Amino acid sequence: MATALITGSARGIGAAIALRLAKDGYNIALNDISEAMFESNDIMDKIKAEGVEVEKFICDVSNYSQVEETVKAVKARFGTIDVLVNNAGITRDGLMARMSEEQYDSVIAVNQKSVFNMSKFVGNVMMRQKSGRIINLSSVAGVYGNPGQMNYSASKAAIIGMTKTVAKELGSRGITCNAVAPGFIKTPMTDKLTDAQRDAMIAQIAMKRYGEVEEIAGVVSFLASKDASYVTGQVIEISGGLSM
Ligand code: NAP
Repeated sequence: MATALITGSARGIGAAIALRLAKDGYNIALNDISEAMFESNDIMDKIKAEGVEVEKFICDVSNYSQVEETVKAVKARFGTIDVLVNNAGITRDGLMARMSEEQYDSVIAVNQKSVFNMSKFVGNVMMRQKSGRIINLSSVAGVYGNPGQMNYSASKAAIIGMTKTVAKELGSRGITCNAVAPGFIKTPMTDKLTDAQRDAMIAQIAMKRYGEVEEIAGVVSFLASKDASYVTGQVIEISGGLSM
């Protein structure tokens, strides 16, 4: 049975992607930065109920050597890694004039360097398999920019360049790499916004509502499927028609 590794998957969009890929029949390698995240969420039980194998791998995806060890452990546990979803991400928002170096560096490390770490080590496994799907979580903030998110926008724009580079480097080995760029999706990350920020966002969305995590998971499922076998290096915006 094929295996999918989803980073930052204890909750939010990552958990929804993991559950959807479990429904699609993949064994699931979950990841998050701490055990605590799994204790407060029931994603392991939901995935087990789908009748596939599931295991969690605790690791900080911004840490190169931890990622190397984790990828070895996932390969040893499941035999193959067929789908990698680089989902883990953080925000440390603030206007540029007030943004600290720590705010900038931490977001770049978790959101951007993690994609290098994971894609490198999982990519090596996929190259030996001569097949694989890598799906990266970018954001509309990386496509259009967003005030108060210089760090986050930079990381998510970088992911688009990384996606196209990986697609070009690994395409001849039967590996595709695509990105999705969600808009405003209802998760703990966006619950932090003020009512005024939320109303301003919704006014710009053609569909006049937030997205649901399942609507991201559905597109990721398509990109992982056989139907997407000739799609690579693309960025699919999932935003209900934001900024058209
Ligand atoms: P979330 O609810 O905050 O979930 C992200 C998960 O990743 C959390 O469990 C988090 O743990 C974990 N994580 C953070 N740092 C990590 C690290 N260094 N190593 C491993 N795991 C780590 O976020 P989300 O809203 O589901 O977002 C998921 C992805 O979609 C992110 O890449 C985000 O940028 C992107 N996205 C989201 C939206 C949106 O509207 N929500 C829009 C566009 C793009 P902690 O809670 O302990 O940090």
